[in-house]
Amino acid sequence: MRDAFLVFGSPKIERPEIDEVIACMESGWLGTGPRVARLEEDFKSYKGARHAVAVNSCTAALHLSLLAAGLKPGDEVITTPMTFCATVNAILHSGATPVLADVDPRTMNIDPSRVEAAITPKTRALLPVHFAGRPCEMDPLCDLANRHGLKLIEDCAHAIESEYRGNKTGRFGDFGCFSFYITKNIVTGEGGMVLTREEEDSARIKVLALHGMSKDAWKRFGDEGYKHYSVVECGFKYNMMDLQAAIGIHQLQRIESYWQRRRDIWRRYNEAFAGLPVALPADPDPDTRHAYHLYTLLVDEAKTGIGRDAFLNAMTKRNIGVGVHYLSIPEHPFYRQALGWKPEDYPNAMRIGRQTASLPLSPKLTDGDVQDVIDAVIGIFS
Ligand SMILES: *Cc1c(COP(=O)(O)O)cnc(C)c1O
Repeated sequence: MRDAFLVFGSPKIERPEIDEVIACMESGWLGTGPRVARLEEDFKSYKGARHAVAVNSCTAALHLSLLAAGLKPGDEVITTPMTFCATVNAILHSGATPVLADVDPRTMNIDPSRVEAAITPKTRALLPVHFAGRPCEMDPLCDLANRHGLKLIEDCAHAIESEYRGNKTGRFGDFGCFSFYITKNIVTGEGGMVLTREEEDSARIKVLALHGMSKDAWKRFGDEGYKHYSVVECGFKYNMMDLQAAIGIHQLQRIESYWQRRRDIWRRYNEAFAGLPVALPADPDPDTRHAYHLYTLLVDEAKTGIGRDAFLNAMTKRNIGVGVHYLSIPEHPFYRQALGWKPEDYPNAMRIGRQTASLPLSPKLTDGDVQDVIDAVIGIFS
């Protein structure tokens, strides 16, 4: 057994970002400034997007996108029960009402036919999540959005590198929201980004992200002379710092090599676990690119003789950190109480949530770490 605990989702931090953080600190400009502007430019060109605004989390990105989409109380937004709570909370904070549509049991992504069935005269937006880095079925989802005049907001927290039929995730929708949280494919500590199709949406998000102060208020302490700012709406404190962008600029440069490393680990897991009585993640569909953010096993006690939670504990005992992505949203007491949701009403997400276990999948893993994960999993199931 390994001596040291293998932390789940630990990011790989390398010399260039450490040096950049030091340079940022020595420059004395820690807050929003030139490094944030550079990360926005770099990310925009990586994605081939029109507009990009950096913020301090994907949660902030989702919240501001929903506000910029013009949602009002009573409006309904359709999303997936197989996501992190932030997706649903952002809808509630925008004042709109979240509506769930169950996932496809194979892809674990929102099922477009169930989305269609959930559309009502109050529906104003769709908020699909590209779960685990696998792109959602964007052709039918875009078609539904077009036919019903709905805003489309993509939760790309898992899906920085994902593509669907030649187009990159985050560019299908009016808004694409990304996370650079410590466990995500590239990191800034806390951090996020919004891509928008329309200039006016990115301008509004920029204002909302900094107290509602007029454009470029952060320049007021620069050397071009003091500039007064005006508060033009009641905004939030969601701006990204240069200290955070300093990390992201260099992480983004290694995004492709990190992706290849995670894909290789994914393939080693697939080969090693092929004979086990557990369900492995579905292979990526043709003409798509998977971001390989999460590698999830489904542990069905009827087939394995061991339950999911017992598996999680057995892995931890073997010094391997594991994750759960996710208990379906209606399992949580808040949503049951506030919205009356029941897990049984979304049976595919409920079953996945009760059986799923995520294994470490990070470019930081050595070949030895990967072997330790494989040995632990095989040891538990045999
Ligand atoms: C991580 C995550 C978020 C929130 O990202 P933060 O940057 O931590 O706010 C939202 N949606 C999904 C699907 C996530 O995994």
